[in-house]
Amino acid sequence: MTLAQSPSESGQAPLGHHKARALKAGSRRPAKDLCSECGLCDTYYVHYVKEACAFINQQVADLEAQAHGRSRDLDSEDDLYFGVHQEMMAARKTEPIEGAQWTGIVSSIAIAMLTSGKVEGVVCVQNTPEDRFQPQPVIATTPEEILAARVNKPTLSPNLSVLEQVERSGMKRLLVIGVGCQIQALRAVQDKLGLEKLYVLGTPCVDNVTRAGLQKFLDTTSRSPSTVVYYEFMQDFRVHFKHEDGSTETVPFFGLKTDQLKDVFAPSCMTCFDYVNSLADLVVGYMGAPFGWQWIVVRNETGQELLDMVRDQIETQPVMSQGERRPAVQNSIPAYDKGMTIPMWAAKLLGLAIERIGPKGLEYARFSIDSHFTRNYLYVKRNYPEKLDQHVPAYAKAIVDQYELPD
Ligand code: FAD
Ligand code: SF4
Repeated sequence: MTLAQSPSESGQAPLGHHKARALKAGSRRPAKDLCSECGLCDTYYVHYVKEACAFINQQVADLEAQAHGRSRDLDSEDDLYFGVHQEMMAARKTEPIEGAQWTGIVSSIAIAMLTSGKVEGVVCVQNTPEDRFQPQPVIATTPEEILAARVNKPTLSPNLSVLEQVERSGMKRLLVIGVGCQIQALRAVQDKLGLEKLYVLGTPCVDNVTRAGLQKFLDTTSRSPSTVVYYEFMQDFRVHFKHEDGSTETVPFFGLKTDQLKDVFAPSCMTCFDYVNSLADLVVGYMGAPFGWQWIVVRNETGQELLDMVRDQIETQPVMSQGERRPAVQNSIPAYDKGMTIPMWAAKLLGLAIERIGPKGLEYARFSIDSHFTRNYLYVKRNYPEKLDQHVPAYAKAIVDQYELPD
């Protein structure tokens, strides 16, 4: 049996996952070029890879029903775009955490869950001592370890590589923080982890890169690549870099050197349709909120329980929506088809009117989802046509179908 085959494919009797072996570091993963390095294959849960991997077996609707009691209602625009939810809001910490990606709502929830005793450990990702952007997944068991994981590591991160340690440690109550592809694989194996309760706190995620790809992006875009401690593609259509000395640098999306950045995004991210982390209990991002605020999507009662842990630490306001995204998205499609990967043409088309009439709040989130889904749909169609039907979820197809695409 090659490691890329499942036991049933090899004709052997199914093995218990404890008898399976993690794949060797650096060896080719079953999803091949589409592997997002989620970490599952670094554990004996590789045994379930054929069913669990987001890039081999897209099964968002089934897993939504398992996690939230129903899959999304495609006739509801909010469900279609943002997934199953019972509440959305904009929020920010009244006392932001220094050095967090936004105001630190994710880290604060994790700390409250741990110190209240609701969980025994938190899967999150710190960086290595040598490199602030090299991810190092951990099971944090102290608030200090959670705080050390604050801020995005804007690179593919093998968060699930610590899952074997969870089962070995005997932990029964766990919080996992992660992005969509990690959470899909987690949901597919969660019943095998020996847990009594799993909480899943997700962030949206798009356009991630390998560590080498990140370097290329920093080198071509920032005035001082080696001092960047943080960056974000923000709702004002600019990339915001924060440097070691506390200074901020902004670069308009349409000022990016697309010719050099053409292939910078990981193929996994170019084929991903789970921008909004459909399977997490609670999602904390920014794109559906006014600038400076975080965007919260409560998907189920477990998500509500997570959010309630920090109610007294945050201020909130209702979500809002303003502007019209569709012409900009439609006009940008020919550029993607020519191999442009960064959805900045749309921003350019909005030109100087961005601040005044550009999409804001939920309409900005829909703008970003539409731009990425149309781009990714064309990418799958061009590069993996045999995967198109199975890999593109029904909700993503419905979103893409609003636009005229080239053949
Ligand atoms: P913090 O308190 O700073 O905590 C950040 C948490 O993120 C930590 O617990 C850490 O474990 C976890 N984390 C860091 N890097 C990774 C990683 N590579 N993989 C998995 N987990 C990680 N939001 C949007 O609305 N739109 C986007 O397009 C978008 N893109 C994102 C792309 C990436 C690669 C990531 C990691 C996040 C993205 N987000 C996006 C989420 C957003 O940037 C913030 O992470 C989120 O709002 C939480 O902010 P915070 O201040 O509460 O987080
Ligand atoms: Fe394995 Fe995860 Fe890569 Fe899929 S994405 S092949 S599950 S490491």
